[in-house]
Amino acid sequence: MITFKGVHKWFKTLHVLNDINLHVTPGEVLVVCGPSGSGKSTLIRTINQLEPINQGELIVDGINLSDKKADINKLRAEIGFVFQQFNLYPHLSVINNITLAPIKIRKTPRAEAEKQAMALLERVGLAEKRDAYPLQLSGGQQQRVAIARGLAMKPRIMLFDEPTSALDPEMIGEVLAVMKDLALSGMTMVVVTHEMGFAREVAHRVVFMDHGAILEEAPPNEFFGNPKHERAQQFLRQLL
Ligand code: ADP
Ligand code: MG
Repeated sequence: MITFKGVHKWFKTLHVLNDINLHVTPGEVLVVCGPSGSGKSTLIRTINQLEPINQGELIVDGINLSDKKADINKLRAEIGFVFQQFNLYPHLSVINNITLAPIKIRKTPRAEAEKQAMALLERVGLAEKRDAYPLQLSGGQQQRVAIARGLAMKPRIMLFDEPTSALDPEMIGEVLAVMKDLALSGMTMVVVTHEMGFAREVAHRVVFMDHGAILEEAPPNEFFGNPKHERAQQFLRQLL
């Protein structure tokens, strides 16, 4: 589903992705962790071309992103992205946040889009909030709406960049529960998170990044039970 081959990226002189080799198979849940500034956001943002790469090869859902003829807009429509900040449209109700892209981009008839949106709101436990505005919701509820909005385009891949980092502690669980449900449904997911409980329970593989490079890549029981790299051991110790 996603293949990085020798990918490099620089911001001017800063080598922000250093020889990334990574393969994500359909239905796989990959958790990316590592210290602040290690390149996690940049890595995940290259997957939908929010950040272009400078060297190497990146193939997403069969499309080589270096190919000048690659249809990036079509690819982006197949990828849902949930950020740390919820990024809902504040002037649109919950249901209109969710139906906007399906109506505008997929040309789904409004009635059909609303029916699908309601099913998604049921799924994230917020059906009764259909007519609320984002600022009337808690952070956890907003983030669940953001996930529903991402799912409304029927994506083949969901990307999450620290989706619970901006939440009050009591709201983290409800968002992780929605993500776990999504993982169990077979969605291909790349999740940047420091929620190691989630990683342990839900991830198929954990990647540890430091200074733009992948230092370790292992199934969660191996990564948590026996981290090989000194930097990974340090990182895990400081999370405790
Ligand atoms: P992480 O998500 O792991 O905290 P980032 O991918 O956000 O790391 O950033 C990696 C490095 O790249 C950091 O040193 C950051 O300051 C730098 N960086 C991120 N975005 C930009 C940008 N648009 N321009 C220049 N430097 C950037
Ligand atoms: Mg980041």
